[in-house]
Amino acid sequence: MPDYMYRHIFAVMKIVVAIYTIFCFFCMLSSCAVSNNPMRHQLKLLQKGIIKDDTSFVYHLPYEENKTHLLVQGYFSQYTHMHRAALDFKMKKGTKVCAVRDGVVMRIKKDGNRGGTNIKYRPEGNYIVIQHEDSTRSGYWHLKHDSIFVKVGDVVKQGQVIGLSGRSGYTYFPHLHFIVWRYDKNDKWTQVGTRFQTQKGIRYLRPFRFYRNKKTTN
Ligand SMILES: [Zn+2]
Repeated sequence: MPDYMYRHIFAVMKIVVAIYTIFCFFCMLSSCAVSNNPMRHQLKLLQKGIIKDDTSFVYHLPYEENKTHLLVQGYFSQYTHMHRAALDFKMKKGTKVCAVRDGVVMRIKKDGNRGGTNIKYRPEGNYIVIQHEDSTRSGYWHLKHDSIFVKVGDVVKQGQVIGLSGRSGYTYFPHLHFIVWRYDKNDKWTQVGTRFQTQKGIRYLRPFRFYRNKKTTN
């Protein structure tokens, strides 16, 4: 076989290997891009309104009435919520954070004064955890240094301002990371999805959408 034929075959083989490598890379990405947690599927049905017989508690959005915030990560979203039923609301530092329902403050951290994209900042995240009457708990993360207005044991009312948002802990930008947990049959705390009262009605929130908190007072 002449030389140029070898060169031709070799070039074709290189292209095939390159295409195969790219194909494998995208397969790998797509296989790890979604969680196989069954709750993810159930939440999708709830978000789309396909499951309708929902009698679960309706939560107050974790910010003031008549205010609007963008949800930047939803339940089981890609990036850092891949395996979490958690919500990230974009908020400027110093935004008032409100209790989503009545409860008792279980834990707080308020002395963290550093935050950033390095995982070493994770323990610096300021937070509030509140227990509710049905034994579920809600958690508010990345709060501003020394800006928590409640203490452990305090009784809080739905809509009460409990602290200010910030950028403490392991985070790329100022936001509120919000979670609800339920103590399940296997004696484990499990994150769960919840629905919220918004200006447009009761919703399971979806990422990249703005949600205005309903004005209930005059
Ligand atoms: Zn988050």
